[in-house]
Amino acid sequence: MRQRVRRWATLSLALGLMALVGRMAPKGTWPQPAVLGEPAPGQPAPTPSFARPPLVAVDPGHGGSDVGGKHMNAQGVVDLTESQVNLQVALLLRERLEARGCDVYLTRSGDAMPGEPLQDWNGDGEVNVRDDLQVRIDRINDQGADLLLSLHQNALDDVDPIASCSSGGGGTTTYYCADRPFAAQNLRLANLVHQRVLAAIRRFGYEPADQGVIDDHL
Ligand SMILES: [Zn+2]
Repeated sequence: MRQRVRRWATLSLALGLMALVGRMAPKGTWPQPAVLGEPAPGQPAPTPSFARPPLVAVDPGHGGSDVGGKHMNAQGVVDLTESQVNLQVALLLRERLEARGCDVYLTRSGDAMPGEPLQDWNGDGEVNVRDDLQVRIDRINDQGADLLLSLHQNALDDVDPIASCSSGGGGTTTYYCADRPFAAQNLRLANLVHQRVLAAIRRFGYEPADQGVIDDHL
């Protein structure tokens, strides 16, 4: 993944979140978690019953040699990286989720990239950032997570979707997986997360660059 030094706009803390319910699929398999049906007209939404606390996987993007987006000070020196911000947000989110009775699995709790030293973990014949993503996915599945939130920060003035982790244009985006049998639940969660992130940015006095909720089929 190309990483360019970019100056983040003042509103650089726009969140890009990938919200996926249920287990992500390792290498072409498709686990089938229990799916709640849509409520009948006029009926309340079904309430999930958990035999154990729900396990939420929180994935702070980047880490180690892959710092993600970068902020430079007036002297042109990098003084903040996306990997640092992702981790700080993830640690705060873990606190809040645990306070609400959830169990939390972090794909990283320090600076190290989970997949480093990189190898061809996904068996596609190449060694790149996708191998790190595969390591994260495999570990999340091994944990049996019920839900995954992957945290990234999109730069507002970016137009390069690879360098900025955004779909183009930067700003606040929430991705979800539309390919799974529980896609409707994924979309519902993504919409809930997205609205809360937008509201949080506004509470700090900023108007978010709302890029909407997007199918993650990049
Ligand atoms: Zn990122």
